[in-house]
Amino acid sequence: MRRFILQKTLPLLTLFSFVFSSALVANELPKAEQEKLQNLKETALSSDLSYDLIESLTTEVGNRLMGTKGDDLAVKWAVEKMETLGFDKVWTEEVYGTKWTRGHAKAKIIAPYPQDMVALALGGSIGTAQGGITAEVVAFDTFADLKAAKVGSLAGKIAFVSYRMVRHIDGNGYGKAVGARVTGAAVAAEKGAIAFIMRSVGTDDNRTAHTGVMRYKEGVKKIPAATLSNPDADMLENQLKRNKPVRFYLNLGAKLEQDVTVKSANVIGELTGSERPNEIVALGAHLDSWDVGTGALDDGLGIGMVLGAVHHIAQLKERPKRTIRVILFAGEEVGLLGAKQYMLDHKNDMADHILGAEWDFGSGPIYQLNPGVGEKSLKAIHELGQYLAPLGVKVANTNSAKAQSDMSLLSKAGMPSINFSPDGNRYFDFHHTENDTLDKINPADLKQNTAVYTIFAFFAAQSSVDFRQ
Ligand code: ZN
Ligand code: ZN
Repeated sequence: MRRFILQKTLPLLTLFSFVFSSALVANELPKAEQEKLQNLKETALSSDLSYDLIESLTTEVGNRLMGTKGDDLAVKWAVEKMETLGFDKVWTEEVYGTKWTRGHAKAKIIAPYPQDMVALALGGSIGTAQGGITAEVVAFDTFADLKAAKVGSLAGKIAFVSYRMVRHIDGNGYGKAVGARVTGAAVAAEKGAIAFIMRSVGTDDNRTAHTGVMRYKEGVKKIPAATLSNPDADMLENQLKRNKPVRFYLNLGAKLEQDVTVKSANVIGELTGSERPNEIVALGAHLDSWDVGTGALDDGLGIGMVLGAVHHIAQLKERPKRTIRVILFAGEEVGLLGAKQYMLDHKNDMADHILGAEWDFGSGPIYQLNPGVGEKSLKAIHELGQYLAPLGVKVANTNSAKAQSDMSLLSKAGMPSINFSPDGNRYFDFHHTENDTLDKINPADLKQNTAVYTIFAFFAAQSSVDFRQ
């Protein structure tokens, strides 16, 4: 239904923007440039390019966990696409990580009422010994409750955190739930647990578990860690309510090989600026995905958006004044490895990153622009806001945004940033699951997303504002 409404309303809104353009307070873009921007918007709203790129990536490459064959293919795919889409320069920068393989995940309640469970290993988990682990479950409503448990109180037990992620338009339920996923196993091990299981960090009611990265703690025993699908976590809770001991079986074939290095690459492409080529407008997305689903939303969508936006701008007769750089980061899922490497490789030109934005938040229309720029340049951001308003995007009243995911590291290093908010209500239904597939991409929303990014990139590259000030 939403798709229908958006398709019906966009042409009308576009018409209004022409009507209102005379009322624009424009200091950065003269009339002729505004017309170019208007044309770019029309192009982006009518183009299937972003969708076709995601279709190509998910069909010809599929999932692409760092260090796998899919990841190698993805790097080649990205280089080839950038070259054919009209980028002036395309190159790769190597990124290194640790080998991890998922293997099988078998989980069952053995007693009081035997039931099979749908589970996935957390990314980076060790496997169980052959034959698996059978032990009693000790449940915690929240991660804080697990942290409060006495050292030794979980000896020989399986710790279970049942906290359910809350759905929210800006996805803020994720931050509240993800801590258990990242460090739950280490905390459980400190209390004596022999395995850690948790309710998936996800908002769906599907029988699919959500994976995601976890980390062990130096000096603390490594224990196997897995997530259960929401309905399976419900089943486990219901059995625990009977006040009888619940015995659980977990068998993970995961393998963490810390002494085996895997190689990937950040793939970088540029449109070279015509007047100030050393000043960079940076657009980010991540190239890797988890090894479940096909990484369509996470982050094929971001890749389709930024490549599509830059292609549209590359079709103009003249290059914008500043350089537009697309960075497709490696190894985001396994701990921002590509971003960390980028920070090392680019410490000397970090100050040339005039403005940046990453996209790593799935499908849904963008409704808000959140700036994180110098106070003086807020005026220009509001001018940009006027160009985006007909697409349903408003400028937030705050000015403290960091870029998403990988680029949060660049933001921390001082890069002025924009963070766009989409309607993220449905993103965590599919995030890091077998269900993250092409059919979850809404083509109409994607057109709006790419149009927003096209306008943003063109405006930032064509304006003369120093967004650091
Ligand atoms: Zn992502
Ligand atoms: Zn992810």
